[in-house]
Order: sequence, then C-alpha cells, then structure tokens
Amino acid sequence: MTDVNAKTIAFQCPQCGCALELTIGQIKSPESTHCACCGVGINTDASASSRIVEEIREAAEKVPAEITIKFIDRPENDDDGA
Ligand SMILES: [Zn+2]
Repeated sequence: MTDVNAKTIAFQCPQCGCALELTIGQIKSPESTHCACCGVGINTDASASSRIVEEIREAAEKVPAEITIKFIDRPENDDDGA
C-alpha cells in the first residue's frame, strides 16, 4: 500500500517561479509554508483547498511529475492590464 502522505509534489512558486516540493502530508497540514527562494507565504490549508488535495491525491496515485496548486494568499499585484 502506498502512503499518499509521503508523496512529493513538485510545483512552482507563484511569486518567483522557484521550483518547490511539498509532500501530500504537508499540503494537507493546516500550517502554511513559505517559498524557500523568496519567502512568500503559501497557504496549503486542506480545509480551504480540499478539492486541491483531492486532485493531488488522485494525481499522486498516477505518479505525476508535476501538478498545479492554487495559492490562497497570493498577492494581487497583477499589472498586466495597467
Ligand atoms: Zn518564491
């Protein structure tokens, strides 16, 4: 039996694009984490992102190399339309 919580998910920091990794267990944890490169807060609260966790769990069973994660506390500084 595979322990899904131990699976590592690779994704990019939405702020700086740095390659990051979290385990499913970390993603499901209510504790937020920070980008190791730029320090931006990454909220992976499973209660707020349970759908994402479900997606990850399903995807993890297929052993993906990468997965898209949505970030809750992403700063709104998109200036593509200014
Ligand atoms: Zn970053």
